[in-house]
Amino acid sequence: MKIGVLALQGAFAEHLVMLRKLGVETAEIRLPEQLDDLDGLIIPGGESTTMGKLMVDFELLEPIRKFGLAHAIWGTCAGAILLAKDAHREQPLLSLMNITVERNAFGRQLDSFEAALDISTLKQAGDKSDCDPFHAVFIRAPIIESVQGETEILVSLPDGRIVAAQEGHLLATSFHPELTGDTRFHEYFLSLVSV
Ligand code: GLN
Repeated sequence: MKIGVLALQGAFAEHLVMLRKLGVETAEIRLPEQLDDLDGLIIPGGESTTMGKLMVDFELLEPIRKFGLAHAIWGTCAGAILLAKDAHREQPLLSLMNITVERNAFGRQLDSFEAALDISTLKQAGDKSDCDPFHAVFIRAPIIESVQGETEILVSLPDGRIVAAQEGHLLATSFHPELTGDTRFHEYFLSLVSV
């Protein structure tokens, strides 16, 4: 199994470390042809407007959109915004997932915070006790305001705001699982990858 991490901008190095910890072959993706032998792709956190523009400049937007029709893609934070159909403003998006996101939804007062998430919906992930909460880091994070169509809500905050969603082999999380030592979300993503 070979998983690529889009490496134009943002927190891609941390995802590579997590994947290697799980014994997965990895690649930093900066060119369209590098998608050819991948089984799955992670779009990291960073700044979604900048990353989207770079995807246009590097002629990656269309190839990644095509890749996502048949392969697993996981977007974390800015990556989740890029996967969305609607981010309430004009910016290049992959528009692969039936989700509407609100950028920087937690406001300036609360640039970043941490929360213990109930991830009992991810039971199959990892060998850690299913009941252990997932320690999630949010940095200028979006929320998934709503999901449409076949998209499933995976994880919500206690107040009901959606922070993880899945549509088939596509996964979006508002937070940064690559910034903790906990590999359960990475393992969950690998379970969506068909090789
Ligand atoms: N606020 C960023 C955006 O709107 C996302 C932040 C992140 O990826 N940590 O693109």
